[in-house]
Amino acid sequence: MMSPSQSPRLLLGPGPSNVHPAVLAAMAQPLVGHLDPAFLSEMDEVQERLRRLFQTENRLTIPLSATGSGGMEACLANLLEPGDPIVIGVAGVFGERMCDVAGRIGGRVVRVETEPGTALDDAAMSDAILRTRPAVVAFVHAETSTGVCQPVAGIARAAREAGALLVLDCVTSLGGLAVTLDRWGADATYSATQKCLSCPPGLSPASFSERALARVRARRRPVQSWYFDVSLLAGYFGSERIYHHTAPVSAVRGLAQALRRVEQEGMSAREARHRRAAAALLTAVEGFGFSPLVAEPHRLPMLTSLRLPERVLQKGEAAVRRRLLDRHGIEVGGGLGKLAGMIWRIGLMGENATEESVGRLAEALEDVLAS
Ligand code: PLP
Repeated sequence: MMSPSQSPRLLLGPGPSNVHPAVLAAMAQPLVGHLDPAFLSEMDEVQERLRRLFQTENRLTIPLSATGSGGMEACLANLLEPGDPIVIGVAGVFGERMCDVAGRIGGRVVRVETEPGTALDDAAMSDAILRTRPAVVAFVHAETSTGVCQPVAGIARAAREAGALLVLDCVTSLGGLAVTLDRWGADATYSATQKCLSCPPGLSPASFSERALARVRARRRPVQSWYFDVSLLAGYFGSERIYHHTAPVSAVRGLAQALRRVEQEGMSAREARHRRAAAALLTAVEGFGFSPLVAEPHRLPMLTSLRLPERVLQKGEAAVRRRLLDRHGIEVGGGLGKLAGMIWRIGLMGENATEESVGRLAEALEDVLAS
């Protein structure tokens, strides 16, 4: 029996975003084996397209079978050993999550924090790196809990000069902003499919540099996680295609289709589309009294965090969001962590980064705020 049908949603929260019918159709194809040559050539295609999107030559560029948090765990578990120092930039909930994951691995975590809604300070990160001489430096490119875009180059340079490897979270940026791994010198990077790639959640595109793989080969003890050990994963994701785990065939086929759509559009046109949609959103919501939490030049285009006007606070911000969902089928996100109850997070990601989405949200807001 089919599950009861769900009225369609316009997903304007922090992810997932809506999925194009062509991606859903690719996922609904009859199943083939994960070692079937037809599927393996599609996997080759996905890996090649991910290299182009990440702007990297890294051989080990793969769709990890995991959500974004699994990608985070994979990157940190491979590069960190118990007792290793790691400097982590914390600009919100996802930097915080990195500290939790690194601590559980046994890393000696040195945190550099910034106020929610602001970017990490290059000088503070450099100081901590010089003081700590860490094995790894880690931070988030697009902090979805606050809507801040973190400049990468300065911190990446400080990490490289100190001989540390760089772990970068590109969960929300990939497919909406240029991600240039080789230029930045990122060593282990992870993303997720449900944001600007507009696929269902479930895969974490990830990329590991040769320096990262050399660090893994030189480890004093094996990677604690069997599932995420890149030296084992390389057997399947390299030319040998040795069984490691059963690849999620339908999810990978959906990602292949989504990546074709990204390339058809072109990354610079896609980024420009995200920026136009974000500008339209700000113009539309300022009329209702919302104001942006993040100052330029650090405002993300695909995720806008908004301070709430009095009329929304009075009605109860969660109740207003619920009314948007129930009456108009529109999902927007609330605040996370320290910003809970204080902001909304509006995602215009991938397929949803359009002026049409903004128009629908503005009409719905008109209705729910009038009543
Ligand atoms: N990192 C960032 C920046 C995120 O926005 C998210 C999810 O929203 C994650 C990591 C975790 O990803 P997932 O929820 O797919 O596990």
